[in-house]
Amino acid sequence: MIDVVLNKGKEKAVLHRHPWVFSGAIALVKGKPTNGDIVRLVNAKGDFMAYGFYNDQSRVAIRLLEWNEDFKVDEDWFRVKVGEAVAGRAELLSTGATNTCRLIFSEADYLPGLIVDKYGDHLAVQVLTSGIENVMPVIIDELRKLLNPKSIFDKSDASSRQHEGLGTDNVVLFGDAPPDFVEVRENNILYNINIAEGQKSGFYCDQRDNRLIVANHAKGKKVLDCFSYTGGFTLNALQNGPASVTSVDSSALAIDTLKENIKLNKLDAGKHSSIQSDVNKQLRAFKEAGDMFDVIVLDPPKYAPSRSALVRASRAYKDLNRVAMLLLNKGGLLATFSCSGAMDMETFKQVLAWAALDAGKQVQFVGQLCQPEDHPVRSSFPEGEYLKGLLCRVF
Ligand code: SAH
Repeated sequence: MIDVVLNKGKEKAVLHRHPWVFSGAIALVKGKPTNGDIVRLVNAKGDFMAYGFYNDQSRVAIRLLEWNEDFKVDEDWFRVKVGEAVAGRAELLSTGATNTCRLIFSEADYLPGLIVDKYGDHLAVQVLTSGIENVMPVIIDELRKLLNPKSIFDKSDASSRQHEGLGTDNVVLFGDAPPDFVEVRENNILYNINIAEGQKSGFYCDQRDNRLIVANHAKGKKVLDCFSYTGGFTLNALQNGPASVTSVDSSALAIDTLKENIKLNKLDAGKHSSIQSDVNKQLRAFKEAGDMFDVIVLDPPKYAPSRSALVRASRAYKDLNRVAMLLLNKGGLLATFSCSGAMDMETFKQVLAWAALDAGKQVQFVGQLCQPEDHPVRSSFPEGEYLKGLLCRVF
């Protein structure tokens, strides 16, 4: 195994078990590892620090796996990690109310670059590092042993793979290609998921708990679900006896699937309307028409892909929230989210405070929302905390 020597003074993060070593922290590579190889990280004195995946094409040159020198990172090591991750989701799946979740969440589950989502009997996998790519035969074998899925489908995110110098094909890794639509259950609501064509790996299961929390405020209310996708918040709200629910999304496929999902659950389509449009434009159109709401959900895509985009993204979040606040009846509820990892909760609250000032509104934070248990945050890897939300009472 090849030794990689860390620069003097760069030990702290490794000792604190942060799983990333940036290329700038490396003093010397004693040999020529192939990308994806497991290397031995040592400090300037030559003492062992950790084992990790090497990749000279990535800004994160080593993704650390194991800090105990005596534990060999072999096939069994990976099988154990897969088993622990799957076992960690057993309670969530045990009631039967939900059969879709994230089974493996990359660094948070000690498998950097591997994401596995369960859609009933089908698994969608994202392979984002060359190290994980190398051990995929073992991972697939273990997933089959533990879960006996009908299919395992590769749904890797193209841009992340390119950062690691990997190809970008979507492929069936095991079994038949999944059907066009897979029916899944979440919070006892049924959804049709298009694994191959849908966004992300098909469904945003990270909002499971928040959909229920928001729906608890929907009874008798006029609800607006912005960035609705296939209807996560919409369907939960429709189940709770709202006055009406309006869904807005720019994707025609998302809106069509949402309408199918309303039928699938035999929910009252008479209380629902959907608009395929840009949310920013549509909110302004509501404003002009004098349409007001009691509950508004804002669940936009990631506005800040990196820290450097944070200032611009903050302005976009502020503007979006400002306009939404103007559309709420007095005392109405805004459930607003940011899935940008670069924006922390304190910054998000500040953005909401600016939005309130500009809108001439008073805002109370009545709840703080986050990602659910199948998207764990590892204590040594705060970067894994990406989803945050605020329930705001707006006066
Ligand atoms: N709330 C959804 C997930 C939202 S994901 C759920 O619970 O499942 C973000 C969604 O925003 C996607 O469906 C995408 O099509 C949509 N979107 C992105 N930019 C948009 C825009 N400017 N206007 C309207 N929808 C947009």
